[in-house]
Amino acid sequence: MANNATPQGSTARGTAPGMATCAVCSAESRQPLFRATAPEQAPDLDLRPGEPLRSSICHWLQQCPRCGYAAPDIREARPSAPRVVAAAPFRALINDAATPALSRRFLAWAHVLEETGAMHEAAEAMLQAAWTADDLNRGDLARAWRMEAVALWRSGPPLDAEQRLRVIDALRRAEAWDTAQDAIETMAQDTLPESVRQVLSLEARLVEAGDARRHTVASALPPPARRPHVSHQKLIGRGSLFGWVKRLFRR
Ligand SMILES: [Zn+2]
Repeated sequence: MANNATPQGSTARGTAPGMATCAVCSAESRQPLFRATAPEQAPDLDLRPGEPLRSSICHWLQQCPRCGYAAPDIREARPSAPRVVAAAPFRALINDAATPALSRRFLAWAHVLEETGAMHEAAEAMLQAAWTADDLNRGDLARAWRMEAVALWRSGPPLDAEQRLRVIDALRRAEAWDTAQDAIETMAQDTLPESVRQVLSLEARLVEAGDARRHTVASALPPPARRPHVSHQKLIGRGSLFGWVKRLFRR
């Protein structure tokens, strides 16, 4: 995992160590060095990673101090990103003092992704914004951003079983009980791997109980699979979870 991250300001880009050149406005700024470490605890049902990666969320995105562009690596940007960053909606978003600063960074990244057509990646960034709201005990924001993540997921290409489970979990945690129930019933009609069906059953029980709290993947699977490493690998596969983390921190 650590091998995947590279130090910021690589000499190949001609910048000093610790400095990054913004791909949108070319400003140079000091950006924190962040290396993803493999989670040791099981992820939540929405695949928010376990500790120690979980609480490093404040370091997942960089933000350019001049133009406000936010991304895992601001040295890289999609071709249309400068147009999006210069436009009024983005300017309003990053200057909205009513929204917590860390959350705004994820919303900014989600906005750029959405405007450049990367709907599933935008959904991921929006869900991460919801995680920052969870950490701040801002249930109102977390619910709203989970619903926006669901809308983004559903506006992109068809979802695989893992992503459909995450949509259901987002709906449950947003207390959208009827919509969650519909999604569970639709998915239950499909042929599903046993591990996916176990998580779906847990979601059904939680929705039935009106439980919008955080639960981990480990709690969906019977012992002895309760051991975090065994259970989450069993559900989504080591390659899958680590693949997600790698995509998140691609530098
Ligand atoms: Zn910039």
